[in-house]
Amino acid sequence: MVKSSSLTYAELVDVLGSCKTPKERNKAVKLLKAFDPIEHKHLDHEAKESTLSMKKYTYLSAFVCWRCGAVKTTNTWARFTTSEGHKKICQSCHNVLQSAVEVEQLKKKYLEQKKTVAGRAAEASSWRRR
Ligand SMILES: [Zn+2]
Repeated sequence: MVKSSSLTYAELVDVLGSCKTPKERNKAVKLLKAFDPIEHKHLDHEAKESTLSMKKYTYLSAFVCWRCGAVKTTNTWARFTTSEGHKKICQSCHNVLQSAVEVEQLKKKYLEQKKTVAGRAAEASSWRRR
C-alpha cells in the first residue's frame, strides 16, 4: 500500500489508519516519523475529568497522537472529547492533561478553603467587635 514516500502527511495518517499488516504499518510509521510532528494544544483548557478517558485495548493500534503529533504503536490510548470532536491522543498526553486537571482541582479547593478561612476570620472579627 505504501509505495512511495511522496505521500503527504495527511495521506500518510490516512494510510496508517487503514494498514492491515504490521509490515505496512511499520512502513507508514517510519515515513510519518520523517515529518515534523503537528501539535494541537490549543484545546488543552477543555481537558476535564469528563472529557478524558484512557483505555487499554487487546490489540495494537498505530496512530498519530492528535495533541503532540507523535506516531505511536500501542494498545493503550486515550480519547479527548473537545469542541472540535473526539480526538485520539497518546498515553503521555493523557497524563499531562490529567495532571493539569488535578492541579486545577487542587487550586480550586485551595482557593475555596482560603475563602472559607477568610470568611471565618471576618466573622470572628465582627463577633469580637460586638
Ligand atoms: Zn501525544
